[in-house]
Amino acid sequence: MHEPTVYLDHAATAPLRPEVLDAMVPVLRDVWGNPSSAHATGRAARAALDGARERIAAALGATPREIVLTSGGTESINLALKGAAWAGSARGHRIVVSAVEHHAVENAARHLERYGFDIVVVPADRYGRIDPDEVEAAVTDRTAIVSVMTANNEVGTVQPIRAIAERVHRHRGVLFHTDAVQAAPWLPLDVDELGVDLLSIAAHKLGGPKGVGALYARRGTNIVAQQHGGSQERYRRAGTEDVAYAVGLATALDLAVAERARIVPRVAALRDRLADAVLGDGVTLTGHPTERLPNNLSVVVARAEGGTVTTILDLDGLACSTGSACATGSAEVSHVLTAMGYPDDEARGAVRLTLGRTTTDAEIDRASALVPDAIRRAREAAAEAVPGR
Ligand code: PLP
Repeated sequence: MHEPTVYLDHAATAPLRPEVLDAMVPVLRDVWGNPSSAHATGRAARAALDGARERIAAALGATPREIVLTSGGTESINLALKGAAWAGSARGHRIVVSAVEHHAVENAARHLERYGFDIVVVPADRYGRIDPDEVEAAVTDRTAIVSVMTANNEVGTVQPIRAIAERVHRHRGVLFHTDAVQAAPWLPLDVDELGVDLLSIAAHKLGGPKGVGALYARRGTNIVAQQHGGSQERYRRAGTEDVAYAVGLATALDLAVAERARIVPRVAALRDRLADAVLGDGVTLTGHPTERLPNNLSVVVARAEGGTVTTILDLDGLACSTGSACATGSAEVSHVLTAMGYPDDEARGAVRLTLGRTTTDAEIDRASALVPDAIRRAREAAAEAVPGR
């Protein structure tokens, strides 16, 4: 009998939670009004949207008017960076980002560079950590925005966000954004505790639907809309809101917050058990040994291509990746591993295994056998291709 796929790619996306589907279906079916309409049908949609916004705000320690609903992580990040850059362009054209950001941040910054913004990239250490002092050294009074992610999508390293925010805010008026898309399922995200002005999340990493996210923008934070039209989202994001998806995001986030204390230790223990089976014999951990997401086991495999390992695993019924899902298919090595000092030949051995709340003991048993075997076969293939390797 064909066994179901062992899904160890939760950093790419998580399966839709049944509770989220159950919360969304009645809204899609029954609450189909336009939340901007004044009549009762519209008001019902507005009430559902307001309720979802309140729950999203509460989960982040924010107020509802500080939440901008978007189409996902990428849009939230683009709105934060471009919106704050243009709003702050009178004070200066400097944008500071870390060297290990997701492409959404990196490429939004590169886009702004074409319009005269000056991008400063703060280096990472061997573990992918960003030093708050180095961020501070890069910030000037002419800086519009600084962006450092809460946790990395490839290697799982968690950044000292509170310390970085504190350093950034030593410069009056400089805004600090964090991409919390990967952190959201696993870490508490209280915007006051973190001290951030802007924070991005996406529902699909939390067991919500793809295509919806939120940007937290602290009260008084000026951002220029990137999409123009109606007055929705307090003029920060035009377009009729997707009420059902907002309810999906709110439900996924609520559940993550409620279950975190129970889920995190269980997932971390499963991840550690898998690490015991995988690490050693030329397979080494990437990212920080302790300051890392509880679900992330990312490694570099010596004497093999990460892409060969993941292809063999796919054929064997285990889904994982070499790194960011967005970079799959590109011949380039990970810019994150490069920033961490890995030479190209080592970085090509990258394999990322990311667990989720649905991962079972039995799946980790299977993965503990399949992964070392796939590595052995990938090494044989590499040795055949390059005799003597
Ligand atoms: N930022 C990080 C750290 C991510 O992992 C992702 C998703 O892969 C994104 C941003 C983009 O989010 P979305 O897929 O919702 O556009």
